[in-house]
Amino acid sequence: MFDNLSEKLDKALHVLKGHGQITEINVAETTKEVRRALLDADVNFKIAKEFTNRVKEKALGQNVLTTLQPGQLMVKIVKDELTELMGGETEGINLSGNPSVILMSGLQGSGKTTFSGKLANFLKKKKSKNPLLVACDVYRPAAIDQLHVVGDQIGVEVYSDKGNSDPVAIAKAGIDHAKQNGYNVVIIDTAGRLAVDEKMMDEISDIHKAIQPQETLFVVDSMTGQDAVNTAKAFNDILNFDGVILTKLDGDTRGGAAISIKSVVDKPIKFIGTGEKMEAIDVFHPSRMADRILG
Ligand code: GDP
Repeated sequence: MFDNLSEKLDKALHVLKGHGQITEINVAETTKEVRRALLDADVNFKIAKEFTNRVKEKALGQNVLTTLQPGQLMVKIVKDELTELMGGETEGINLSGNPSVILMSGLQGSGKTTFSGKLANFLKKKKSKNPLLVACDVYRPAAIDQLHVVGDQIGVEVYSDKGNSDPVAIAKAGIDHAKQNGYNVVIIDTAGRLAVDEKMMDEISDIHKAIQPQETLFVVDSMTGQDAVNTAKAFNDILNFDGVILTKLDGDTRGGAAISIKSVVDKPIKFIGTGEKMEAIDVFHPSRMADRILG
């Protein structure tokens, strides 16, 4: 994961390893390389610039207070800043409702249906919840079938209504079905399109208003780099969502989305998807991810 970024940051931080002390000159040289590594990883220009400015300030400020070698100090500062940038503390999801309603949003192909299944499986196995999946994509019958396949795989019921073209009505009926049948979590999979458009935004906004979910999650493909950040912004403007799900982190992603999203929309990344299988889901830990990036 993020091999290229790891390698480049390692090289950038190596500059200081042979030095006995931190100086304005060697810090400037190092942070320039750090910035280049971040930009190469598809991190937004402004974020990369602010990041390196903070690192520079801290390195010069903390230098007199520490017994760490310059190289070690710089690694620590960059790690701390990366953790902070990606969200600081790990955030859970709100399961306080009865049932708790979780609404999935995102573009077509981002991994919503797959993640809906993964989350249902995770909540069932790890949190002893009794989830229901609800299929609200009224445009693509194949998407409904796909959710049924996923549900069968993990032994979770899927509520769907193929003849119905009103996603708000299906979502509401799904929640009623959950109440009547003792399900304590409802995960609602919605229709996405290939790009942000008004109709999709109106529809997801209508569903959101009608069902008032405890948790609205935005699912995004990490391989889409800076586009992931722009899409997140568009959905957040409409939904004010609670958290981000970054999928396909097992692929050849450069990592920019993971690093930039939190600071652009100010919402935490809650889970990551690391494969096509139902078990390929991880709670997102900013500090562990920073450790991984910095080796
Ligand atoms: P949706 O249109 O948003 O519902 O997206 P899907 O759930 O259908 O996913 C689109 C494609 O991405 C499918 O082929 C999934 O198997 C694949 N996919 C989803 N999540 C992941 C992931 O974390 N890693 C990988 N490698 N593939 C994924």
